[in-house]
Formats: sequence, C-alpha cells, structure tokens
Amino acid sequence: MNNAVLHVSDVQKSFGGLRALTDIELQVEKGKTHAIIGPNGAGKSTLLNVCIGRLPPDSGTVTFDGHLITGRPPYEINQLGVARVFQTPEIFPDLSLLQNVMVPAFAKRDGTFRMSALSSLEKETDLRDEAEKLLEDVGLLQFYAKLASSLSRGDKRRLELAMCLIQHPKLLLLDEPTAGMSRHDTNRTIDLLKQIKERGMTKVIIEHDMHVVFSLADRISVLAQGKIIAEGTPDEVRGSPRVQEAYLGG
Ligand code: ADP
Ligand code: MG
Repeated sequence: MNNAVLHVSDVQKSFGGLRALTDIELQVEKGKTHAIIGPNGAGKSTLLNVCIGRLPPDSGTVTFDGHLITGRPPYEINQLGVARVFQTPEIFPDLSLLQNVMVPAFAKRDGTFRMSALSSLEKETDLRDEAEKLLEDVGLLQFYAKLASSLSRGDKRRLELAMCLIQHPKLLLLDEPTAGMSRHDTNRTIDLLKQIKERGMTKVIIEHDMHVVFSLADRISVLAQGKIIAEGTPDEVRGSPRVQEAYLGG
C-alpha cells in the first residue's frame, strides 16, 4: 500500500513467557479509519502502545509518515503528529475542563507546559476559542468550568478526545473510545468521529462495540491471541468464517 501513513512490520512482543503480539503486519492508509477488533486479551492495547512508543517491541518496526519511530519515546512520536485516547482516560483531574483542553495545545506550541504557566492560559484567547469549540463538539461545553475529576467515565473519554483534537494530529489512535458510555453518548461520539473523518484525519480505533466498528471503519484487522487472523473491508471481515469462529461467536 503506497499511501500508508502508519506501517507496522513484523512486530513481536512478549511479556515474560506470554506472546502478546506475533508477526504483526498493519498498514493504515492516509485519511482512513482502520479498526482493530478482537477478544479481550488479544493484544489490541499492546499493539497501540507499541505504535505510540509506550512499549518497545521485541523486534519489528513501526514507521509513521516516513519516520522510523520504533523505540522512540512517546513525546517524540506525539510531536510528529500522533495522538491517542487511552482505555483509561488520562486527564488532569484538578484542572477545569477548559484548562484540560488548552494544556495540550499550549504544550504542543511551546514544546512544554509547566503548571506554573496555568494562569497565563487565560490570555490565550485563540486557544480558548478553539478549546470551547471542541468542548461543544464533544458535548461538554456547559461544564467548561468544572473540575475534570467531577466527570463520569464516559465524559472523561470525551474530554480526552477534545484534548487530542486540539493538537491537530495526523494520526489519532483510540482505545475503546465509547467504553462506559450510554447508547446516546456512543452515537454522539460516532457522529463526532465521522466529522473528524471528513476533515481527513487518519484514525486507528480499537473497539468492542460492533455497531461503532461497522459505522466507522474503512478497513478492519482482527486480532486473536496476538495474531492478525483477518484483514479487510467490513463486509469481508463480517463474512470470514475464521472471524465468526474466533470473535463474533459463530
Ligand atoms: P486487549 O487490549 O486486546 O484486551 P492487551 O493488549 O491489553 O489485550 O493484552 C494482551 C495480553 O498481554 C494479555 O494476556 C495481557 O494480560 C498481557 N499484558 C498486557 N500488558 C501487560 C504487561 N504490561 N505485563 C504483562 N502482561 C501484559
Ligand atoms: Mg485493551
């Protein structure tokens, strides 16, 4: 695939005696949404962590936007344009929602952010406007002055999504972005992710909810026991007997 913005090649990763990832090949095309599905413990989060530099692979390579990023630290990979939403939201609990969204943009622009600079955030009116717009997009604007710690788990995920989007990443990685959300909030998140797609952002999404996967994905890779057992369009994957057996429950 010539247009691959993310290319994972021959990646292996073990934890002690446990082979979490074996012979992983993944190519994500620019502007597309690529879903990774598979049962619990299949290795999905591990694969994502390898892509963002949180876990070094035992062997193999990850290339992003022409850069070999294997073994590089997470902040460097982030600076190249990779942002992620974790399975457990990583937010600043003691800051307001608005501050939470502004901090990553500030950090990206200035290369760093110290909590002592918090008061100067208020002077950043352009950033503030954009942060408010994003809070509106994720449906949290009415709570902008609240502390992030006061949010429900589902709302924390939406906050984290806004914190990613303000960085204008080239590649957005999402680890179960709708876990813990009501059906209403899930649908709202799907709509938002569709809008992001229209803006041309490339996404890798790990998701359990098949409704979400089939509404959003251009391609799907199926992981089971650390191996990719199928890859294709949603229709191809849905029709695969191997996938039915391993994941969709026959
Ligand atoms: P998934 O996200 O598909 O549910 P994970 O990637 O979290 O799966 O985990 C894959 C396997 O690796 C599981 O068996 C899990 O217990 C194991 N694992 C994940 N992270 C670690 C770790 N840091 N140390 C040891 N084992 C781990
Ligand atoms: Mg996981």
